[in-house]
Amino acid sequence: MKAVAVKPLTKNSASLLDMPKPVINDSEALIKTCAVGIDGTDIEINQGAYGEAPVDEDILVIGHEAVGEVEEIGAKVTDLHVGELVVPTVRRGDSSDYQERGIKKAHGFLSEYFKESPANLVKLIPELGNIGPLIEPMSIAQKAIDQALKIQQRLEGWSPENILVLGAGALGLLLTMALRSKGYEVYTFDIADSDSLKAKTVQNTGGKYVGAKETTLEKFANDAGLSDLIFEATGNSDIAFSAVNILSQDGAMCLLGVAGRDHSSQICLGCLNNHIVLGNRVLFGSVSSTRTHFEEAIETAKKVNSQWPGVLNSIITDDMSLTEYGKAFQKKQAYQIKGVIHMDGET
Ligand SMILES: [Zn+2]
Repeated sequence: MKAVAVKPLTKNSASLLDMPKPVINDSEALIKTCAVGIDGTDIEINQGAYGEAPVDEDILVIGHEAVGEVEEIGAKVTDLHVGELVVPTVRRGDSSDYQERGIKKAHGFLSEYFKESPANLVKLIPELGNIGPLIEPMSIAQKAIDQALKIQQRLEGWSPENILVLGAGALGLLLTMALRSKGYEVYTFDIADSDSLKAKTVQNTGGKYVGAKETTLEKFANDAGLSDLIFEATGNSDIAFSAVNILSQDGAMCLLGVAGRDHSSQICLGCLNNHIVLGNRVLFGSVSSTRTHFEEAIETAKKVNSQWPGVLNSIITDDMSLTEYGKAFQKKQAYQIKGVIHMDGET
């Protein structure tokens, strides 16, 4: 079978190669991959920034945002059926020694087939088949929202009047959609033009788009008020830490972006310290997601799809075939919003 793999920590090493088709045991399922979404993590792995091959191997099949069809099940598998659509979860093992498929010590899903235990496969209804690659990033959004709301249970009767999402890339837009589907007032801030697809996607779900070309975070807060919850999805630590200033008293901010490791800047640490302590504010990070978040993500996607038909689909802006994998791992800026590789060659 064909697969796209990298030599970890080697720049631009992604290549299309032939690998043996996986053979399942009694308690596994063989999945025929339908489509795989590409994100910044894949691009950074191909740039050699991180990524780890499975033990005793020197290549890593990449791709972690997948949807596939059950092709074959082992004799002991009872809860899956041939032909069903499934989305695989990514992280395996506990937090001290974990693997992540397509990222760390386990092959990913950018191959014609993969095998998996049913515990790591979440069923997807056929109506959501086209947006299957968005379920993994939606699960990241879902986890961030769940954690923020759980943290804020520390405050009796708290509910956010306005929520700010920083960044209108795929994750920022999925956060916006998920929050809007739960009925929250959402502002989404990005550098894109106010007539861009990103801006329109925010507005299509009843969110308010805030264009960084027209305003600053400070001016925005003067007009719209401080934000009770902030989700940072730009990976720009300057934006992240300047947004702390517009977090309301008792507010919480979730950092989701991975920033450049060598980035430093002069900020008043004492001011930041006091702003957090004296305002009873919380700053936290969130990464990865569990099966529960995938299940919630599917429920959220169903809701979004029925409230705003076509909006989820519209953020898959770049469809590619497997042979176009070279194009898929170019710079992040190569995509309008989300790039997806379709295994059957149809785009
Ligand atoms: Zn991802």
